Amino acid sequence: MEEDGRYSRQSLIPGWDQSKLDRCSVVLVGIGAIGSYVGAILASSGVKNITIIDFDSIELSNLNRQLLFRDEDIGKPKSEVAAERLKELNPEITIKYFNKKMEKVPSSIYEKANVIIACLDTFLGRRWINSMALRVKKPLILGGMFAFLGDAQVIFPFKTACFECQPLVSQEELAQACTPFGEERKAEREEEEEALLPAVATLSSIIGGFMSQEAMKIILGIGQPLQNYVFYDGLSNVFTQLELAQNPECPACGELYRLEQVKFIATHGEKIRDLIVRLALTYGLAKPDLLFKGKILDHEKTIEDTKLKNNSRIFILDKNLAKPIKILLKLKE
Ligand SMILES: [Zn+2]
Repeated sequence: MEEDGRYSRQSLIPGWDQSKLDRCSVVLVGIGAIGSYVGAILASSGVKNITIIDFDSIELSNLNRQLLFRDEDIGKPKSEVAAERLKELNPEITIKYFNKKMEKVPSSIYEKANVIIACLDTFLGRRWINSMALRVKKPLILGGMFAFLGDAQVIFPFKTACFECQPLVSQEELAQACTPFGEERKAEREEEEEALLPAVATLSSIIGGFMSQEAMKIILGIGQPLQNYVFYDGLSNVFTQLELAQNPECPACGELYRLEQVKFIATHGEKIRDLIVRLALTYGLAKPDLLFKGKILDHEKTIEDTKLKNNSRIFILDKNLAKPIKILLKLKE
């Protein structure tokens, strides 16, 4: 390493191996307030491949805390502008971006990541990225903020508690205005007259810095990762750390869900609609559909109408699931 090279000062840290950053890929979901800081830190530190996912566009009210954006960027896609700015910060790295919803990004993008970092403000958004991280078995770092309050969680799929093992803090309170759901939420907001949420750059930088540091530690394999949740109150300067335990009955990572095929008992003559209601209650799903031999089953039909038999294999599809659950139908008389 050259003495005056770009990374020379961080390379003085014991255990630092810049070549690990040079080989790694990070997916950054949400490039608003916290995401801007995370992106800037990872890019300038030399994280070689960064993929930004966000489909929001830049507004004047973002500029007090979303440091990657300028007045002339208003109306432009956040992901695209952020990619340009990060490239300016460090021309030696590769930045890709998707100006689309995270759900529409191919799962191969998440699979290639060494770490997934999500700066999302909605419960559903966090829930979805959590299930994707479980599916591709990649470490996930979550963070959020509300005024002078913030939180962060580090998740190692199937090794530590996931987002759904023990949901803690009201998602509403942790919400912030930058999100890949921007346009969608704006429409919701107009309908529901949802209040705008307070957000300040100091908190974005603290939580963004904290999350970036956790990502670096994971990539470099140094220090102790956060065990595994922290809540920060900036007004009283208190960090509260909680070690959340894995929940064996967690709807996302519990034992049941790790099975490739789960048995589910149904009765002859039962309607698909009733079966769906029971499955939704059992698995905590929103509006599941059943897929059998490549076709979505009609809710009004009965088990017999749809030619389901004992030991038929069905897939449950739901917007809350990154991966369909495969069930083995057991018919009782
Ligand atoms: Zn879990």
